[in-house]
Amino acid sequence: MDKQQEFVLRTVEERDVRFIRLWFADVLGTLKSVAISPTELEAAFEEGIGFDGSAIEGMTRVFEDDMIVRPDPTTFQILPWRGGPQGTARMFCDIYTPDGSPSLADPRHVIRKTLAQAKEKGFAFYVHPEIEFYLFKKQEDWSQPPTPIDDGGYFDHVPRSPGMDFRRATVNMLEQMGIPVEYSHHEAGPGQNEIDLRFADALTISDNIMTFRTVVKEISLERGIHASFMPKPLTHAPGSGMHSHLSLFEGDTNAFYEAGQEFNMSLTARQFAAGILHHAAEISAVTDQYVNSYKRLWGGNEAPSYICWGHNNRSALLRIPQYKPGKGNSSRIEYRALDSVCNPYLAYSLLLAAGLDGIDKKMQLGEPTSDDVWELTDEERQAMGIQPLPGSLGDAVKIMEKSDFVADVLGEHVFDYFIRNKRQEWHEYREQVTPFELRKYLQKL
Ligand code: GLU
Ligand code: MG
Ligand code: MG
Repeated sequence: MDKQQEFVLRTVEERDVRFIRLWFADVLGTLKSVAISPTELEAAFEEGIGFDGSAIEGMTRVFEDDMIVRPDPTTFQILPWRGGPQGTARMFCDIYTPDGSPSLADPRHVIRKTLAQAKEKGFAFYVHPEIEFYLFKKQEDWSQPPTPIDDGGYFDHVPRSPGMDFRRATVNMLEQMGIPVEYSHHEAGPGQNEIDLRFADALTISDNIMTFRTVVKEISLERGIHASFMPKPLTHAPGSGMHSHLSLFEGDTNAFYEAGQEFNMSLTARQFAAGILHHAAEISAVTDQYVNSYKRLWGGNEAPSYICWGHNNRSALLRIPQYKPGKGNSSRIEYRALDSVCNPYLAYSLLLAAGLDGIDKKMQLGEPTSDDVWELTDEERQAMGIQPLPGSLGDAVKIMEKSDFVADVLGEHVFDYFIRNKRQEWHEYREQVTPFELRKYLQKL
C-alpha cells in the first residue's frame, strides 16, 4: 500500500464516505462507473476489481472478457453532488487483463504510453481546453430542433438568464473537485456557453474533461435544463468545439519559445506544428468522431475546415499566437478542430504523437496564412497548398483506415474497434432519408 492509497483509505474513513465510484472511459470516451463500498477498497488497490468487459464498448474480444480495474489514488475526489455524511467519492481507474498487463483497450493506457514516449525525448505535454456547449430547454421529443435557454451572444451579459447561474455553479463544483477553471462566458450562439479549464498534463486534463462533462450534466439535471455537447445542434448557429492549446515543456522551460527566432518560435515548435498539420486528416475521425461533428466543421461560424496555420487567423486549423518575450512559458499552439465529445485520451495521444513525429522527421512548417481561408476560391487554396479537412465521417474513416501512424499510436485493438464502430455509424446515417430530403424533394420530384 503506497502513501497515496493510505491517504485515500484514511479520508474515506474520516469523511464517512459510503460509496466509491470507480470511473473509466470506453473507446468512444463514454464514462463508465462501478460503485464499491469502503470495505472493498483495499482489495481494489491491491488486486483490482474484476468485471465482464464484453459488455463495454470496445473493451474486449469475446475470448478475453474478464477485465480488471485498479483505481488511481491520485484522482480521489468526493463528488460534491453526493457530499455530506455517507457521501460518494470517485477515482479514475487503469484497466488490466487478468494476467496483470495493461489492457490494450484502455484509453488511459494509450495516453500513458504516448506520454512516456514524449518523456523519453525529454518532453512533458500540457493542454488547456476551451469547452463549448449549449443549454436548451427540456423537451420530450428528441427528434425536434432544440430551444436555447436565452438569445445571448459572444461575451454577452444576459441578466436573469439561467445560463449565468449555471456557469457559476459549474465552476464552483469543478473547483471543489480540484479542477481549476480559467474563464467562463456566454459563447456566440443563443444559449451557448464556454468554460476553459486551466492547463494540466494531458492525462490529468483528459480525466478533468470527463469529470467536466459529468458535472455539467449533473447541474443541468438539478436545474431542469438540457445541457448538450453535441457538435452542431442548430443549423443556423455556431457549433460547439473544444479548441485545445497545446505546449511542450522541457523541465520548467517551454520548448516552443526561442527568443530571436522568427515569431520567437523554436524549431521544436515549428516541427511539432508541422507534424500536426501533416497528420490532421488522418486523426480527424478521432478528434471529430460523430456524423454530426462534420456539420460543425463545414458549417462556418469559426470552426476550421482547412488544414493551415496562422497567427490570429480564426479560419485556420492551427492558431499560433505570437510568442512574447517575458511570456515564453505561455507559448502554445491552438488546435481548433476538436469537439467537446471526442475521447480526450485518444485525441490528445494522437495530437502529441503527430507533433513528435514532426520533430523526429524534422518536418518543415510552411508559411502562415493571413487570408480568411473560407473566402478563398478552391483554385486559390490549391495554389497555396491548403487541403481541406475530411468532409464527412465517412471520408474521415476512409483516410484513417489507411493510416499506419494512427494504428501505431492507438494500438491495433483500439484502431480496429474504432474503425468498425465508425463505419457502422456512417452506414446507418447514409441509409437514412432525412427531413431535408423530404422537404426538398417530396413535393417537387
Ligand atoms: N464555436 C466555434 C467552433 O465551433 C469556436 C468559436 C471560438 O471560440 O472561436 O469551433
Ligand atoms: Mg469559444
Ligand atoms: Mg479558441
